[in-house]
Formats: sequence, C-alpha cells, structure tokens
Amino acid sequence: MKRVFNFSAGPSMLPLEVLEKAQEELVNYRNSGMSVMELSHRSGLFMDIITEAEQLLRELMGIPKEYKVLFLQGGASQQFAMIPMNLLTKSGKADYVNTGSWSQKAIKEAKKFGDIRVIASSEEANFTSIPDVDRTMIDRQADYVHITTNNTIEGTTYAKIPDTGDVPLVADMSSNILSEEIDVSKFGLIYAGAQKNIAPAGLTLVIIREDLIGHAPENCPAMLNYKTHSESGSLYNTPPTYGVYMAKLVFEWLKERGGLREMEKINREKANLLYDALEESNLFQSPVRKDSRSLMNIPFLSNSADVDAAFIKEAQARGLETLKGHRSVGGMRASIYNAMPVEGVQELVTFIKDFENKHR
Ligand SMILES: *Cc1c(COP(=O)(O)O)cnc(C)c1O
Repeated sequence: MKRVFNFSAGPSMLPLEVLEKAQEELVNYRNSGMSVMELSHRSGLFMDIITEAEQLLRELMGIPKEYKVLFLQGGASQQFAMIPMNLLTKSGKADYVNTGSWSQKAIKEAKKFGDIRVIASSEEANFTSIPDVDRTMIDRQADYVHITTNNTIEGTTYAKIPDTGDVPLVADMSSNILSEEIDVSKFGLIYAGAQKNIAPAGLTLVIIREDLIGHAPENCPAMLNYKTHSESGSLYNTPPTYGVYMAKLVFEWLKERGGLREMEKINREKANLLYDALEESNLFQSPVRKDSRSLMNIPFLSNSADVDAAFIKEAQARGLETLKGHRSVGGMRASIYNAMPVEGVQELVTFIKDFENKHR
C-alpha cells in the first residue's frame, strides 16, 4: 500500500493508525452487525461514542467543567454568523483582530449583526505578522473580542494569546486546535472546523463557557442557537455521527501519544526542521516575520513562479503532495498538522536540498 505525505491545508492527513482502526471496525462495529454510519444517533452504541469523544477532548485540552462541548455542523464559516447571533446581545458591539483571509470573512459576517470594530490589523504588512493587541485597545463594553489563533493561509500565529480582561475572548482555532497546550479558561468560546486537525470534514467543534449560552434573541433559528445544542447534548437533530466517531479515534490516538504536551514537542520539532531548512536555503524563504510563524502552516517561496511550479511538480513525483500555496500568497505551503509524521517533514527538507542542488 502506497500512502503519500499530504501537505494539504484541509481536508488534510489523518493518522494512519486511525484510518486502520476505522477500517477494521467499518462493516461490523462492536458486533452490532452495522457500521457506525448505520447506527441510530439515539442508540446506546452511538451515545457511548459521543460521550467518550467529549470526555477524551475534555481530558486532552483540560476543559474546565463550566464549559460545554458541542458537536455541530456548518463548518467554521457557520460560526462566523452564530457567534454574533448568540453573543452580540448586550452592547451589540464586538472587537475583531484582522490577521488574514479567515479573519476578514469573520468580520464581514459579523457586521451583518452589530457594531463591529477592527482594533488591530496586519493588512498593511500583507498579513505576514500578528499585530500587537493589548487590553487598552479593547472596548470594555464590547460583548466579545474575536481572534484567529492560527492563520491557515498566511502561516501566522500568536506568540502569546492577548489578555482581554473581562471581555470574553472568542477564537477561531480551526487550524491549530490540539496542536499545543492551551489554557481554555482564557477563552469564552473556541471553535474549529474538524477537517484540519480533528476528523474528516462535516463536523464543527465548539467549546463555550456556560454563561455565554442562552442570550440569543427569540427569533434566532433553533439550529443556530447554542442553547438548542447545549440542552440536547448535541443531539437536537442528527449530528455528523461518523465524524464524531472519527474524532473520538483521533482523540484516543492523541492520548496514546502522550497528549498535547507531547504533540506540541513533536510539532515544534517538525516546524523547526522546515524553518531551519528555509533559513539555510538560497532559493526559498518564508515570507512570515519570525515572531509570528505558525507551527501548522508554513508558506515558502522562491522569487520565481516558474521555479515554484517546477518544485511542486517534482515534489509530487516524490510522494510529497498538495504543496501548492494558496492563490493569495503564491509559492508553496506545507501544512504539517498533528497527523503529519516527522518523516514527512524530513522528506520535504531533503527534497528542498536536492532541488536546490539541481537548480543551482
Ligand atoms: C479552514 C478554515 C476556516 C473555514 O472552515 P470551514 O469549516 O470550511 O467553514 C475558517 N477559519 C480558519 C482559520 C480555517 O483554517
């Protein structure tokens, strides 16, 4: 069996051990004579899956008991609307930090619901860094502050999570959730589409502090109200059952590997391998300011679009897939989420050196 190293930004690699476990259980899950895909979402077997998934996530991330974990659909993009619909309910004002394409989409959507202010932006620097955010910039009346902790397209991340005082901090963690240890208690709400670091596409994870639930206006659609999902244990309607099952397998895999502290160590090791290689390279470089570099998404480019195209083509022939950069940045982008083994990054680094020697 030939598997490639897939550097896609999402949907992205899943751990081979997880795929194999899913394969093993595919047609007859625990002697039920059914696949998980065919199980009723009200069945005992599925209830065990969703309960275990939540428990494992709570353990991995150290989620305090005053937070709810919701398994939803609609992607991170639906959260761009759900967040203002549910949280913009006191002053009707919120502060956003603009760090790239996904932040901009979140801002655009939120503006449909209230008074949205951009308190910091790195747009003038082409989003190649994270702007400074401190407490004095935040409106103390704001219902929340929104950040994108990892900018998937631009390859940036916060060196330090901003302190927002008493104003709830809302974070889009789609591309770096579970990649390192975080202090959940610093956040009012964390959300992530699953297809980068959790599970297949179709599942969206929301971790929300209880006091932020239940303030949506009367006319808020049931499916877009956190209260609906919180009160029903994410079983108001049919949840993405197979996605929840796959997430559970990924959480087990993370736990077996030593949890998030261990993952962070491995992720730092992988990212350093690649950043060091780019530092040494005469052909390629990272466009991102050093203090803002992501551990998960690493864009790099030469100063020639032809060289970049040749690199992507030759890399593919060596089993290094989906290295093409996002059209807004160009060049290459290596997404190296939890499931990317160290060997994949080592292969990429070796290939960068080989390519350079050949094209000198
Ligand atoms: C991928 C991504 C999104 C969009 O996620 P969907 O699940 O496709 O809606 C939003 N924010 C960030 C940071 C992302 O990486």
